[in-house]
Amino acid sequence: MKNGWEAIIGMEIHAQLATETKIFCGCAANFGDEPNANTCPVCLGLPGALPVLNENVVNLGAKAALALGLNINETSIFSRKNYFYPDLPKGYQISQYDQPFSSNGTLTIMTAERDETGRAGEFKPMKIRIERMHLEEDAGKNVHEGLPETDKYSYVDLNRAGTPLGEIVTAPDFRSSWQAYDYVNHVRRVLQWVGASDADMEKGNLRCEANVSVRKIGEGKFRTKVELKNLNSVRFMQKAIEFEIERQIEAHETGETVNQETRLWDEKNNRTRIMRSKEDAHDYRYFPEPDLQPLKVTAEFVERVKAEMPELPDAMRDRFMESYELSYADASQLVSDKDLAAFYETTAKASGNPRVSANFILSELTRELNNAGKTAHDSPVSAENLAALIKTLGAGEINNNKAKEVLTEMCASGKSAAEVIAEKGFEQISDSSAIQKIVDDIIANNQTQVNAYRGGNEKLFGFFVGQTMKASGGKANPKVVNEILREKLAG
Ligand code: ZN
Ligand code: MN
Repeated sequence: MKNGWEAIIGMEIHAQLATETKIFCGCAANFGDEPNANTCPVCLGLPGALPVLNENVVNLGAKAALALGLNINETSIFSRKNYFYPDLPKGYQISQYDQPFSSNGTLTIMTAERDETGRAGEFKPMKIRIERMHLEEDAGKNVHEGLPETDKYSYVDLNRAGTPLGEIVTAPDFRSSWQAYDYVNHVRRVLQWVGASDADMEKGNLRCEANVSVRKIGEGKFRTKVELKNLNSVRFMQKAIEFEIERQIEAHETGETVNQETRLWDEKNNRTRIMRSKEDAHDYRYFPEPDLQPLKVTAEFVERVKAEMPELPDAMRDRFMESYELSYADASQLVSDKDLAAFYETTAKASGNPRVSANFILSELTRELNNAGKTAHDSPVSAENLAALIKTLGAGEINNNKAKEVLTEMCASGKSAAEVIAEKGFEQISDSSAIQKIVDDIIANNQTQVNAYRGGNEKLFGFFVGQTMKASGGKANPKVVNEILREKLAG
């Protein structure tokens, strides 16, 4: 970073937990339905309505907490966070304050800096302290009609009011925008992986905020921080942080004040701009929610959720590297998607050839799936069928180029490897007596070259391989051809 400055970044993520119903009532947690269709007295905040905690929020919250390395607290308290806003019908949000659902986590992420072209350097592990993940309800949504200048009407849609959220807060441990970028992607993936959240930023069910400040390296205390909000993609978030770091360093160096404020990413102008200053900072007057009991979680419950947890992607990646001798890059790509990882493992086991399985899946199959707009989840070729093809290849019954052609046809037709190979007449000739016969003919018909080879022109070996392959229609097993030629040409 510039002239001995360093960036200090903390992250807050709101992730919608993937329950069917809202956190304190039985309304469907579907945002995007007909406005206000999914509402009831509880989530409309009507007088006398009482909240009841949705058990599945606790289940999914526990999965999320464990996936992020957090400790689940035996007792947590729901509190009222008071503020006035049109999309908050009760005038307060039920959240958690001084006793959150989970806290004190350490998460190891893999992170790398990127160069100007966006190319990543070496990915290295980095420990991030996660201070807490508490449970809370979401607010509704204000919908403004038309452009801000011509805005005449605003509407309130309360379908989202009362949908469950986990708010994940880190310590200010990030020192670069790419670390924050890798962290958010890590969180997204593990939440999806364990089924705690759809974590789709486009749909707004994962939202992130970054707190950014800078200081001179070696300086003990923090300088004024700026909060970046409404970052609707991980890439925009990274750009916003990067811009903000530069802007603050510049301000400090020229003696301008960095104000504590909330800023937005202005996509059109590629810069952050002010949303509001912190002078109108809220005092939320938190107090315990009198209508809800403290949430108590037993050790047995935590053990049960732990037992139900799938192997996490990073652990799976390390295992793939270890047991299947895959590179970090290949193993990472295979665990980028849960279905792809499972598809790979089935193929590797059934084929008995994990390396070739990885190569085939990451290059050939991925290309076919991309062309068809599909993923491993709806692959037209099953893992078992792909394994059969890889076995055929490994046994030398078909060569590599033909195997690729077979896979393309398998994807198009849904037929098995054996069917396609038979139809196309691709069986490789590995039978040595058949190849010996071809080699005998080649030797008999090319005596000049045979004599030259035996006279010391070893380069001619390739000529004989070429002739034999041609005579077999490309079907001869090259390994067997080589062996037989060496033997026969030796005289
Ligand atoms: Zn409701
Ligand atoms: Mn929150």
